[in-house]
Amino acid sequence: MEKTFRKNDIVQVQITDIGTNGEGIGKTNGFTLFVRDAVMGDLVEVQIMKVKKRYGYARLLNLIEPSALRVEPPCPVFGPCGGCQIQNMRYDAQLEWKEKTVVNDLEKIGGFRGGYELEPIAGMETPYRYRNKAIFPIRTDRNGALVAGFYAQHSHRVVPLFSVQKDGSFRETKTDDCLIEAPVCRDVLQTVLAWAAANGLDAYDEESGRGLLRNVLIRTGYHTGEILVCLIINAKKLPHADMLADALEKIPGMTSISYSPNRERTNTIMGKKVVTIAGKDSIEDTIGPIRYAISPLSFFQVNPIQTSRLYEKVLEYADLSGNEVVWDLYCGIGSISLFLAQKARRVIGVEIIPQAVEDAKQNALRNGLSNAEFYTGKAEEVAEALYRREDARADVVVVDPPRKGCDATLLETILRMRPGKVVYVSCNPATLARDLAILRDGGYLLKKVRPYDLFAHACHVETVALLTREK
Ligand code: SAH
Repeated sequence: MEKTFRKNDIVQVQITDIGTNGEGIGKTNGFTLFVRDAVMGDLVEVQIMKVKKRYGYARLLNLIEPSALRVEPPCPVFGPCGGCQIQNMRYDAQLEWKEKTVVNDLEKIGGFRGGYELEPIAGMETPYRYRNKAIFPIRTDRNGALVAGFYAQHSHRVVPLFSVQKDGSFRETKTDDCLIEAPVCRDVLQTVLAWAAANGLDAYDEESGRGLLRNVLIRTGYHTGEILVCLIINAKKLPHADMLADALEKIPGMTSISYSPNRERTNTIMGKKVVTIAGKDSIEDTIGPIRYAISPLSFFQVNPIQTSRLYEKVLEYADLSGNEVVWDLYCGIGSISLFLAQKARRVIGVEIIPQAVEDAKQNALRNGLSNAEFYTGKAEEVAEALYRREDARADVVVVDPPRKGCDATLLETILRMRPGKVVYVSCNPATLARDLAILRDGGYLLKKVRPYDLFAHACHVETVALLTREK
């Protein structure tokens, strides 16, 4: 008979997997336990906190045998800070686990048992300082000091990375850095906090909805070195803006300084508009030979090094000769579309957010690519309309949907249109596997799969897959 478990039971369990939030997963007597702070490979003693039918949540009591994959996390606030989830696991083991997740999902959800070429996961040479975008919430702590940091996991409590006293002098925190972000974030936050303290400005308080400074957004151009800073504020206008601009402009590379009013009491970070107080409205960066404008509100992939590799792979899988019509569905600001436009006859990008489509059109102009056109709307609806226009039918379809994957009607349209190739870019292996199975059942062969690590120390994995039409 299977053993049943109750709350407060103390059990030993071997951790064999990682959950979506970085928690360790282990099985005992057919019962699955989720254990925070446990690493894959650990043998642990835990206390069960919450029991569901087939699984439960448990608290780590004793690390009986630490996993060989464990490492001392280099960041002193790893754990409390919700930014990274698996920094305490060797990077090569992170990569191996991510690759295995993709393969397992393809098999368990999609029914793909081999038969395709798995290219090894593309990891980073240096898995730190890779992000080009950071958003730091600002708060006042118990001592009345202004702090900037990151949210703790599943919480709006801020783990302080940077802190100043009321008089503007710096206060020690456990760290004054984030190892995932660009080093310049430190200079920017110290400058912003010192300016705020010197002018008696206060931080936003989520509970009362009062206070001025909500967040600081920092974006950097990896290749151009340009820096953008945008303060999100709970007011229409930013006081002492000139003083802030003067101070920030001393930082080398500073290109765009702005604020965004957001007086809504919601979790949405950015306001609807942006007011530039010094410099340009946006910064620029490149991916391969393509130049993109990045403004405070525009979407841009956060890991420039890995994004460039991933886009190269999309181009390789698409294998264009110059005569093709290519669809880039879920195209965002057209980053993949413009990459493809270098080699295709015509590229048609489709994206649901109007502002992103506007950015895509501007980016096409900026790069002199007149063979890329963009439409606003749901991919599933626009694709159906394009399919009806014979001249717009695609030879190659690229999709890069959000985590929930492609709409079923879009996959149907693709199957009716029968393009020679489909290149699927995915940020969620489970929905990737589901959608690839539909395409396979409709007459496509899964040829190649390559996972990419765009989020070192977090649990996400991206994948590029190539399907070709069966003759
Ligand atoms: N390919 C882009 C963006 C991918 S992110 C890049 O690499 O930068 C996924 C995009 O799909 C987002 O921009 C999101 O706004 C868009 N999106 C979400 N649902 C959509 C739908 N039903 N139709 C079209 N676009 C959609």
